[in-house]
Amino acid sequence: MATTSEPTVKPQIRQTECFIGGKWVPAASGKTFETINPATEEVIAQVAEGDATDVDLAVEAARDALERGPWGKMDARDRGALMHKLADLIEQEAEELAALETLDNGKPIRDSRTVDLPLTIDCLRYYAGFADKIHGQTIPVRGNYFTYTRREPVGVAGQIIPWNFPMLMVAWKWGPALAAGCTIVMKPAEQTPLTCLRMARLAQKAGIPDGVINVIPGYGPTAGAAIVKHPDVDKVAFTGEYKTAQIIMRDASATLKRLTFELGGKSPNIVFADADLDAAAAGSHFGLYFNQGQCCCAGSRLFVEEKIYDQFVERLAELNRSRRVGDPFNPETEQGPQVDQAQFDKIMHYIERGNQEGARLLTGGHRVGQRGYFIEPTLFVDVKDDMEIAKDEIFGPVLSVLKFKDVDEVIQRANNTFYGLAAAVWTRDVKKAHHLAAKIRAGTIWVNCYDVFDAAAPFGGFKMSGIGRELGEKGLDAYTETKTVTVSLD
Ligand code: NDP
Repeated sequence: MATTSEPTVKPQIRQTECFIGGKWVPAASGKTFETINPATEEVIAQVAEGDATDVDLAVEAARDALERGPWGKMDARDRGALMHKLADLIEQEAEELAALETLDNGKPIRDSRTVDLPLTIDCLRYYAGFADKIHGQTIPVRGNYFTYTRREPVGVAGQIIPWNFPMLMVAWKWGPALAAGCTIVMKPAEQTPLTCLRMARLAQKAGIPDGVINVIPGYGPTAGAAIVKHPDVDKVAFTGEYKTAQIIMRDASATLKRLTFELGGKSPNIVFADADLDAAAAGSHFGLYFNQGQCCCAGSRLFVEEKIYDQFVERLAELNRSRRVGDPFNPETEQGPQVDQAQFDKIMHYIERGNQEGARLLTGGHRVGQRGYFIEPTLFVDVKDDMEIAKDEIFGPVLSVLKFKDVDEVIQRANNTFYGLAAAVWTRDVKKAHHLAAKIRAGTIWVNCYDVFDAAAPFGGFKMSGIGRELGEKGLDAYTETKTVTVSLD
């Protein structure tokens, strides 16, 4: 994919430094790293490479903003108004932000425009509405006492996000944190720092006081780990791989930080013979290939009932053959490049493993073009449960299809994973749908749909797919501490 179309609005690269206490500053070390356009492999910009020294300064600024700045004293309703203002500014710059996201991440411009931007704005507005609705209770206790609870901000929140939905992950993290009155030190993924930095600038423009939001671009083992280990960071919210979460848990143990994790999955997507097969095929295709397959909840284990297996996989193959892969700035493109060389190599390794282990490759399996990290939509059928491609999170456009005979069998096989993020069921039988919804151990179950997200609906994982929930009212729990106050009335 040597050439790319011109975006309607050319994204300007304005923010590339650390954002600390309302100021744009280079990393204390003076170091920078390159952020790459994954469609062309060209360098977009040099970005400040923050590390522990910069994190120290950011945490100091966040603590100061929490305890001494206007933020801590601000009326909750005014806090909500500032969040609304931020959402408005993002909306005003939506076209440029969408282009910036596509440039840095490689996702098709039409997805940036119609998925990432609207969900980002909606999430901030949803939580803006909560700012003045977070309150405690009065509690009847024995004796002549008046007891009530207060829900206070947890304090300085460290937030570490991945590269698959850079802007949306910012909204998922900032939304509840700001609504609860916390201050923030965020590390965006090194692959995709640009939209997060731009959002920090918009937050400042919206009037969110200096020091409330601080952004340290940099690497996980340095900047990320420094946030996790910092004694003055009260809580860490992390989205990414479970192996990284294990490191974070160990690093956070010394200070017993509150932790929320949104991790990966190997989500089962189950198609029964009685389903609307056109809808199921389209939904299964979308549920895996959307965002280049780089979704934590991708329906990457597709179980298809034996009776319809052959015809169903043929429908899937047809959808794959007509999928438009290429220049992410072309509005017709459905699939762009993977985010970087490392992800490209990882996915190609799994394709090789699928072939070696004897799965049948029905479509794809190769690189597209010579430049950029493009991979064909790949479909493996006749996959067995113990193959690596049926067990590991591939995080790319590789779908594994497995055959099943009956309900009990498919429930057992669907649950036979240490993950538990999401699942889907396609059937016209309401009883069967609810039965599976109850039996499958996952944080989200979609019935006759896939990847339906809403800021109001909690999202998170069972088992090793995470701890805690994001979105919805539940998403605020992680950003508040409950304090009990008891007053003697004698
Ligand atoms: P990581 O989990 O390593 O990265 C997520 C974030 O954590 C990044 O900001 C990363 O920094 C940071 N990080 C890395 N190490 C540490 C550390 N020791 N302490 C604190 N923060 C750290 O995922 P990768 O990007 O390496 O992707 C690897 C795999 O993870 C993918 O192939 C996919 O399977 C899975 N993944 C899952 C996601 C999900 O949404 N569930 C999202 C992204 C990836 P840095 O920028 O340096 O990488």
